[in-house]
Amino acid sequence: MIRVGIGYDSHRFVTGRPLVLGGITIPHGRGLAGHSDADAVAHALTDAILGAAGAGNIGQLFPDDDPQWRDADSMELLRTAHELVRGRGHAVVQADLTVIAEAPKLGPHLGAMGAALAARLGLGPGAINVKAKTNEGMGFIGRGEGLAVIAVATLEAS
Ligand code: MG
Repeated sequence: MIRVGIGYDSHRFVTGRPLVLGGITIPHGRGLAGHSDADAVAHALTDAILGAAGAGNIGQLFPDDDPQWRDADSMELLRTAHELVRGRGHAVVQADLTVIAEAPKLGPHLGAMGAALAARLGLGPGAINVKAKTNEGMGFIGRGEGLAVIAVATLEAS
């Protein structure tokens, strides 16, 4: 049986933090605000995996008012969530993500993000596809206030 889940995340840009997306630190003047390392790519994929398994959401698993998760490595949260759904008999087959950001240019980093995500899930390098696009200058993303990520994950019985 195939199960499909969707995840969405958005974070606000702030100064004084590194920009970490899909476990890759990307040179940029600003990073993302958040309780954890604010890796919106890892967060969206985590929610897609949990959703596909019918296992709730990232906020239930790693509450953002819990000091345990302050500055947490979100790639490790992703791995932990995958372990949880594996324990319920599901395993990720593949996932597809779109990062929506006006800046920086993410094209050069997409391959590394996909490989890092796949490695953390114990999958082959082609299992996770990451795309990027701008919001054509519209809305909060267009104004550079933050970025958003959409993820879809496919799971099968493990
Ligand atoms: Mg988040």
